[in-house]
Amino acid sequence: MPKRLPKFVLSKDKLDEKLALLKQSPVPPPEPIAMCYSIALPSPEDQKTFSYICPLCGRKTTHSVDKWDILFQLDQIRDASQTLREKGLEIYLDDKNLCSNCCKPRYALGELFWRITIGERTHFVEIYDWENDYSILTSFLSARNKSDYDKLMLKLSGDLSRLEILLGKTNG
Ligand SMILES: [Zn+2]
Repeated sequence: MPKRLPKFVLSKDKLDEKLALLKQSPVPPPEPIAMCYSIALPSPEDQKTFSYICPLCGRKTTHSVDKWDILFQLDQIRDASQTLREKGLEIYLDDKNLCSNCCKPRYALGELFWRITIGERTHFVEIYDWENDYSILTSFLSARNKSDYDKLMLKLSGDLSRLEILLGKTNG
């Protein structure tokens, strides 16, 4: 294994500065809401079980889910968080709540969270659409100039709420 490069982490000040730059970008006008053409209903053959072996206590929990469930994407989510860490954000997938033994009482069994540390503070954000979060954070962390920030503002349709939750600015 090659030795890991020294860890590069963006400071809270640097992230705040980037957020302030993004807020200077023009907010695009609202777009008409796209119509949804078809809704696929899950059929019984789409039902699957997902077994989770807890790395902390070793117990197995079986979840009943459909085949598109986020639980089948845990490896992709871990890869995504690794990529974001390489861009300077301390972010990890927290999957403790997949274990019926370790699930904290205030959380529902099966909920997934991002664990994000900025400066001295660690916060948890529930994951609904990890690909969207990944896409927002990638663009945000990679933004270097006004044109990058303008593009991100356009992509977000002027709505910074999810980004601010991810950055620990508001409670998610
Ligand atoms: Zn456990």
